Amino acid sequence: MSDLPGSARIVIIGGGIVGASVAYHLGAMGQTDVILLERGRLTSGSTWHAAGLVGQLRTSENITQLLGYSVALYDRLEAETGQATGWKRNGGLRLACNAERWTEVRRQATTARSFGLEMQLLSPREAQDLWPLMQVDDVVGAAFLPTDGQVSPSDISASLARGARQKGVTIREGVAVTGIVVEDSAVVAVETPRRRQHSARLGAAPVSDHRRRPRRHAEPADAARSRPTHLLEGGGRRAGDGRL
Ligand SMILES: Cc1cc2nc3c(=O)[nH]c(=O)nc-3n(C[C@H](O)[C@H](O)[C@H](O)COP(=O)(O)OP(=O)(O)OC[C@H]3O[C@@H](n4cnc5c(N)ncnc54)[C@H](O)[C@@H]3O)c2cc1C
Repeated sequence: MSDLPGSARIVIIGGGIVGASVAYHLGAMGQTDVILLERGRLTSGSTWHAAGLVGQLRTSENITQLLGYSVALYDRLEAETGQATGWKRNGGLRLACNAERWTEVRRQATTARSFGLEMQLLSPREAQDLWPLMQVDDVVGAAFLPTDGQVSPSDISASLARGARQKGVTIREGVAVTGIVVEDSAVVAVETPRRRQHSARLGAAPVSDHRRRPRRHAEPADAARSRPTHLLEGGGRRAGDGRL
């Protein structure tokens, strides 16, 4: 923790798939004054338990397009970062075992096409050809989305984190954020257990003011609603290079 920077423009709390992806994309946008703080190890949260299926079709076109972007990213991420992702574009099968479900699946195929996704309608035998272990006695029909796939959630997060580092983002593990300081409806600081060694505040206000003014502590989730903020240490000793 001694190498924690004293300030950062953007602080990301948590190194699961969401934090790693935000870090990667901020780096890709040229934002390098960014630090990700993870209280344990990267991907040690619920991301580690995810199954890792990557299906794209949703009822919302925007979400479907976002998932299409994920597939395009996963296609190139391993080569870009050198970190394996476990990505396999093996396609996804949807099965219908009664007439009503078959009607629904055919409607899904229409929706997919209207969103620009190729989704093939298959007979039970054609579906079995794709997955020979499957019993198809009660299958009425199936739909196959060839660009769906699966990934290792922890590996894809690690790959995004590596990509973020390569783009200049700082990542620190073993640093829990224990508080967020809000002033005038804006996040000005994050706190860690070692006093307020790593805290954030708007760069315009002097640190001494920060210590005198009353503070309202918010839950970490409030950080997502705050505007980007410059960070300065709120306690501890500052070395000449600005680091704690
Ligand atoms: C490929 C893939 C497929 C998925 N498919 C599905 C699906 O089909 N259906 C579904 O419902 N979900 C799915 N998910 C989502 C998954 O189940 C989880 O909901 C998701 O991975 C959670 O990610 P997260 O980053 O929000 O949280 P987490 O992985 O839990 O990450 C949060 C991190 O924050 C850290 N942290 C928490 N508090 C602090 C603090 N105060 N200070 C510092 N660090 C802190 C934790 O240690 C943790 O590492 C999928 C996920 C992936 C990656």
